[in-house]
Amino acid sequence: GDGKGEPFSSNRITANMSTIKAIAENYQTFNPAAYLQNNYVPPRADFSNPDSVVPWKLKCLADACASGEIGGQILVDIGSGPTVYQVLSAFELFKEVILTDFLAVNREELKKWLHDEPGAFDWGPFINHVCSIEGKGEPWQEKRKRLRERVSRVIPVNVHQPCPLGTELAPGTVDALVSSFCLEACSPDYPAFVKALQNITGLLKPGGHVLMIGALEESYFLAGEAKLSVASFTEEMTRKAFQDMGYVIRDFRSYTMPESMKVGVDDVKGISFVWAQKKESN
Ligand code: SAM
Repeated sequence: GDGKGEPFSSNRITANMSTIKAIAENYQTFNPAAYLQNNYVPPRADFSNPDSVVPWKLKCLADACASGEIGGQILVDIGSGPTVYQVLSAFELFKEVILTDFLAVNREELKKWLHDEPGAFDWGPFINHVCSIEGKGEPWQEKRKRLRERVSRVIPVNVHQPCPLGTELAPGTVDALVSSFCLEACSPDYPAFVKALQNITGLLKPGGHVLMIGALEESYFLAGEAKLSVASFTEEMTRKAFQDMGYVIRDFRSYTMPESMKVGVDDVKGISFVWAQKKESN
């Protein structure tokens, strides 16, 4: 042939790979403290405001975990960043919890909290809120202690690799995954997001569950000096990605960012919550 089709497709692959590399380089300026300050203090984490976004996220996760259908040996949180709020309900249902992030600075921030070192972020109000959703009257410090004991490892992850956790965890060995604001925040576009979803899906056992929270129609967010670009897509596209990947969607919810939550640190329009279950066989 004249080779016209071929260079086009290989150019596309080259373009995509270099964009993924550029995103990785951009993340080197990600500032965990600034990111926490932008997203995990009031108004976004205001436990007295029923419209606040963090309480909405915690309720979605708590409801799925209260179903009695999720549990097992190993829970992996993909792209934990410097945060633990996303596992506060699910961790109770597994023997071992593994936190992961692409950046060493975020893994260090997590270890600071796990070891109760000075300067660690205070997840107390978040833990207290999850205890009040559970309504068992348990002192929140007990949940904090259990979580710190339950986390066995904090390890590197790259969702653009076919084995996102390398040799640490083989495909098909994980009982459940949690992931919040990770895949869209490190993918150049929707196809790359779908590919990343495929990569992390490979970690899951058949019948395993995923709890995913993600940004809707967001193009960027700030984390100190860093301005990260985000793959922007709709809730329908989120749902379709899971269906096409062979999941059964068990719950799907979305949240529209109220004006009061727009604080100039990103342009996120909404948030989706997906509880999906990998089919037993495909
Ligand atoms: N899960 C946290 C939360 O809910 O706030 C952090 C989300 S933050 C927006 C995106 C995270 O993705 C960062 O912690 C970043 O280090 C991580 N990340 C960047 N590139 C990645 C990659 N290739 N694979 C996995 N995670 C990546």
